[in-house]
Amino acid sequence: MADGNPNITALGDAARSFLAGGAKQLLIDGKLLPARSGHTFEVINPATEEKIAAAASGDAADVDAAVKAARRALEQKSWRGMTPHERTRLLLNIADTVEKHLEELAQLETLNNGCPISFARAQIADVAQTFRYYAGWPTKIYGETNPSGPDTLNYTLREPVGVCGQIIPWNGPLSSASWKIAPALACGNTVVLKPAEQTPLTAIRFGQLLLEAGVPPGVVNVVTGFGETAGAALVAHGDVDKIAFTGSTEVGKKIVAAAAGTVKRVTLELGGKSPNIIFGDADLGRAANSSAAGFCFLAGQICVASSRVFVHSSIYDAFIENLTAAATAFVPGDPMDAGTMMGPLVSREQYERVTNYFKLGKADGAKVALGANVRPGKGYFVQPTVFSNVSNDMRIAKEEIFGPVASVIRFDTEEEAIRLGNQTDYGLAAAVWTRDISRGHRVAHALRAGTVWINTYLQIDAISPFGGFKQSGYGRELGRASIESYTELKSVYAHLG
Ligand code: NAP
Ligand code: MG
Repeated sequence: MADGNPNITALGDAARSFLAGGAKQLLIDGKLLPARSGHTFEVINPATEEKIAAAASGDAADVDAAVKAARRALEQKSWRGMTPHERTRLLLNIADTVEKHLEELAQLETLNNGCPISFARAQIADVAQTFRYYAGWPTKIYGETNPSGPDTLNYTLREPVGVCGQIIPWNGPLSSASWKIAPALACGNTVVLKPAEQTPLTAIRFGQLLLEAGVPPGVVNVVTGFGETAGAALVAHGDVDKIAFTGSTEVGKKIVAAAAGTVKRVTLELGGKSPNIIFGDADLGRAANSSAAGFCFLAGQICVASSRVFVHSSIYDAFIENLTAAATAFVPGDPMDAGTMMGPLVSREQYERVTNYFKLGKADGAKVALGANVRPGKGYFVQPTVFSNVSNDMRIAKEEIFGPVASVIRFDTEEEAIRLGNQTDYGLAAAVWTRDISRGHRVAHALRAGTVWINTYLQIDAISPFGGFKQSGYGRELGRASIESYTELKSVYAHLG
């Protein structure tokens, strides 16, 4: 362990004692266990490139044990027999437990994923809020009665889907986990969670906290490991009823193919290349600040990043000045420092990928208005980057970069902005900035994206569905939509004669 590492010495006692306990283990049936193979993998601090922990490398055998535990838990009275009111109480307990451990979880998240500590705290607070939101649902999962003949009563029931495999990425680890676990539990399902190989720590700690909060053993199991082994085994497993996946479009396609063999339910939240359209009549100061946050938040490692910024010709130069000025606030720095706005990228792989797009942008003839540089020294730090004079067919405008990089593209008419905005394989989010209320809604309706913001960016609340059009995935998370996707609909006919 790296004792000289400033990011380790900044940790509080709780996070430190979690890290001190040797290799982190799998959580199966309420018990912490090593991988059956005995293998572990290294967990790295992206701010220093140092090893901070080792975690169990689960594979098909561990996944099988976790799925069996989840199946048993599903049938057990301690879970199946819980009343909706009791499930509400449990979800509220989880929210309280998360809040009690907010600082510890935020520190572990920052240490492992590089997200600035102030944002990590806000994300963990949101995790508690997501559980509170879903705590309201168990008592409101309604069926319906349907009109039939005089001798028939037909009604519907919403039942749990069953054992849910949940595979999450590294960019907002606990936040992603909460979007999946909270609705799954509200509906009475059981879970096997596979966190990303880069960021296993908060998932493991959260699994332990769920037990403390009163979640029966086996209801939530956590199998850390690699996508190709643990993840693929979960998707192929014959006794898993549903896969909820967040990650790259490339892996999403593999999951759909692999899940087809058992006709599992699949929901996918994949990549994005979100158009952010700024009209000449917009509040330029607010639009620039929000757009900068939109591509610099979490160092641009968010699926809804404002990565394609379309700016009306009349304000093009002025807006680029505002945008670059706003983006310079995101100085890459020590993520444990409360004043830091942007930490490192999550891994060397991601660093190579993003810096390669710096080269590609320049080679394709885009102009560097800001950045396109790394921060020298240890850690996977890059500078906020704005490319101007970008055309929509350059690779930097077409491919998901997942770094703090904006491509600024000029447009002249509303129709052109809509056409260019929609000219992408993705459809996760979009934004429009204008003081013309009709145009705001008109453009919002015309954009093919699962979330559209008018005069705002990055607003996401558990109350409303989130997900993608086109290759950004299918199914929705959050809101009522998650309740629907974590339940099976059953129709019951009773003969009354
Ligand atoms: P990824 O490979 O799609 O990872 C997402 C999750 O899927 C991880 O838990 C991963 O495990 C797992 N996985 C990988 N291959 C699998 C398989 N064959 N079967 C089942 N599960 C599998 O994403 P990444 O490699 O970390 O990131 C690559 C790019 O994806 C990023 O640069 C970004 O463009 C995009 N991305 C998008 C999002 C999003 O929120 N939409 C999130 C993350 C990344 P491992 O961790 O072991 O690979
Ligand atoms: Mg991967």
